[in-house]
Amino acid sequence: MKQVTVPVISNAEIIPQVHLLSLEAPEIVAVAHPGQFVMVRCGESHDPLLRRPLSIHRVTETGQIALLFGAVGRGTWWLSHCRKGDHLDLLGPLGNGFSIQPISRSLLLVAGGIGIAPLVFLAENALSAGYPVTLLMGAQSASSLYPRSLLPSHAKVAMTTEDGSEGRLGMVTDAIDDLVEQIDQVFACGPVSMYRSMATKECLAGKPVQISLEMMMGCGLGACYGCVTRTKRGPRQVCHDGPVFELGEILW
Ligand SMILES: Cc1cc2nc3c(=O)[nH]c(=O)nc-3n(C[C@H](O)[C@H](O)[C@H](O)COP(=O)(O)OP(=O)(O)OC[C@H]3O[C@@H](n4cnc5c(N)ncnc54)[C@H](O)[C@@H]3O)c2cc1C
Repeated sequence: MKQVTVPVISNAEIIPQVHLLSLEAPEIVAVAHPGQFVMVRCGESHDPLLRRPLSIHRVTETGQIALLFGAVGRGTWWLSHCRKGDHLDLLGPLGNGFSIQPISRSLLLVAGGIGIAPLVFLAENALSAGYPVTLLMGAQSASSLYPRSLLPSHAKVAMTTEDGSEGRLGMVTDAIDDLVEQIDQVFACGPVSMYRSMATKECLAGKPVQISLEMMMGCGLGACYGCVTRTKRGPRQVCHDGPVFELGEILW
C-alpha cells in the first residue's frame, strides 16, 4: 500500500452524475489487483476529514488508473470538479480483491448500477488470461447504463433496465438464471438488495460467487473498525478482510 499524490489526466461525466476520472499513478498500477480500492482525499483541507473509498475501475500499461464514481455527496461532488492538472492524494491499493479459481473456465460478472466500477478491471484481466467472460449489467434506464463502447471488446454483454428502455426489462438479478448454466464462477458488485436476491437464487446454489461489499468506511486500513460486517466466520472488516467475500459467507 502506498500514499501518493498523482496528477489528474481527465475527468468526464460519462453518465448523468457518474464520472470517469483518469490519474497518472504508476506506483499503484504496478501492484493493483481487480477488486481492490483506493482511499481518496476529497478536498484540499481537512474537511471532509475522511478519505472516500473508490474501486480501481481499470489500469493501463502506461501507468494510469481510472476511477468510476457516482457524485452522491460532498466528497464525490468535490472529486467531480477536479480538472486535468489537479493533483489527488491516494492511499492504496487496499483490500483483498477478486480471485479466479484455477478450475474455472467461464465467468459471469454481474454489475448492479455503479457496481460496474471494479468489474471492468476484472473483465480485462480475465479476458487477457484467456477466460471467456459474460458481463451482465443492470441499470434503471438506458441513459444510466455504462457505455458499451468502454467495455472490453471480447466480453459477451447482456443488459437489463428497470424501465425496459434497453436490454431485458427488469432487475439485473432476473437475467442471471438464463446466463449461469455454462458458468463456473460468478463475480458481482452492486447494492446489498442485489446480493440478498442473489443469495436466494437456486441457480447460484453450489456455484462459487464472490461479491464486493460496499460499506461506509472510516480509515480503509483496518484500524477504526467502522466497516465491520457479520459473516459465518464471525465479524470481519470490509476494508481489511474484504471488500471481496464469498456470497454464502455473509450473514444478511
Ligand atoms: C470498497 C469500496 C469501494 C467503493 N467503490 C466505489 C466506486 O468505485 N464507485 C462509486 O461510485 N462508489 C464506490 N463506493 C462508495 C463510495 O465510497 C461512496 O459513494 C462515497 O464514499 C460517498 O462519499 P461522499 O462524500 O460523496 O458522500 P457522503 O456525503 O459521505 O454520503 C452521501 C450518500 O452516499 C452514501 N454512502 C457514503 N459512503 C458510502 C459507501 N462507502 N457505500 C455506500 N454508500 C455510501 C451515504 O449513505 C449517503 O447516502 C465504494 C465503497 C467501498 C466501501
